[in-house]
Amino acid sequence: MYPKKFDYFLPGSLNEAIKLLHEREDSKVLAGGQSLLALMKLRLAAPAALVDITQVKDELSYIKKEKTHLAVGALTPHDHLEHNKVVGSLFPILVDAASKIGDQQIRNRGTVGGSCCHADPAADLPTAFLALDPKFVVRGTRGQRSIPSSDFFVDTFSTAVKKDEILTEIRIPYLPKRSGSAYIKHSRREGDFAIVGVGVALTVGPKNVCKDIRISLGAVAPTPIRAKSAEKHLKGKKLNEETIVASAEEANLEADPPSDMHGSREYRLEMIKVFTKRAVKLALSRV
Ligand SMILES: Cc1cc2nc3c(=O)[nH]c(=O)nc-3n(C[C@H](O)[C@H](O)[C@H](O)COP(=O)(O)OP(=O)(O)OC[C@H]3O[C@@H](n4cnc5c(N)ncnc54)[C@H](O)[C@@H]3O)c2cc1C
Repeated sequence: MYPKKFDYFLPGSLNEAIKLLHEREDSKVLAGGQSLLALMKLRLAAPAALVDITQVKDELSYIKKEKTHLAVGALTPHDHLEHNKVVGSLFPILVDAASKIGDQQIRNRGTVGGSCCHADPAADLPTAFLALDPKFVVRGTRGQRSIPSSDFFVDTFSTAVKKDEILTEIRIPYLPKRSGSAYIKHSRREGDFAIVGVGVALTVGPKNVCKDIRISLGAVAPTPIRAKSAEKHLKGKKLNEETIVASAEEANLEADPPSDMHGSREYRLEMIKVFTKRAVKLALSRV
């Protein structure tokens, strides 16, 4: 199907893009177009105007090491995240997630910010980011604000970014020494959306005791969620087969997965345990 008619704007700067979004209440940001255009063609979305931000690349596509955090520009394509050496050494969880998105063409066009703002609960990067507890920086005509990851994902396909704001940057705090991270996606075929996705970021102290851990789950609730019971179970405990298995048994307590053609609710609840165990072990092996 063809999309409904829309006006198209191609601003040359971030300020111009923000001004256009403010002036046209019925407009939407267009980044890589990998989700929005599909929705428009299916007529599930019909914005009257698109503000294409691809020409604002210089201002929005980058990966920079700052003093306290890694800054990832919202327009950074999935492919850049996957192949960036700094990301690979500091946050392998993001490489795991980016490399599993769709196929190479989608990873070339799709952007980190687009994936987060689209907020599909089964998407890979939102789940992986949640385990790293970043800040999402947005800009609008009223200025800039920073949204904690716990407040960013509001509901299915809904975030805390307002209609006239643009997500500009994701700030990921550095993990302490002796940390490891991993994301594992369970899908039917390579490139499919996740049936269950699990992200883990953990830090170990002396004698392999878990100092800190964040476990995030995708595709099992209206938004990506933290598996707080499983985290609590491991914090302060020695990380070994017994404690990891016991904590994975609790990983599905906060989940409320749907049943669909890809898997029943019961199957997903069981898979959360299996993939949490594997993701914690993989993160631990990377410390
Ligand atoms: C065939 C196919 C398979 C896919 N498989 C996967 C998969 O396995 N895993 C996965 O995670 N994803 C998958 N995707 C989705 C892909 O990751 C998209 O790239 C991503 O969801 C959207 O990014 P985008 O840059 O294309 O955003 P767009 O489609 O341009 O925009 C998506 C939404 O975000 C808003 N938006 C975009 N950027 C900003 C911004 N900076 N500020 C404010 N709002 C913004 C738009 O207005 C729109 O509402 C798949 C897509 C396709 C077509």
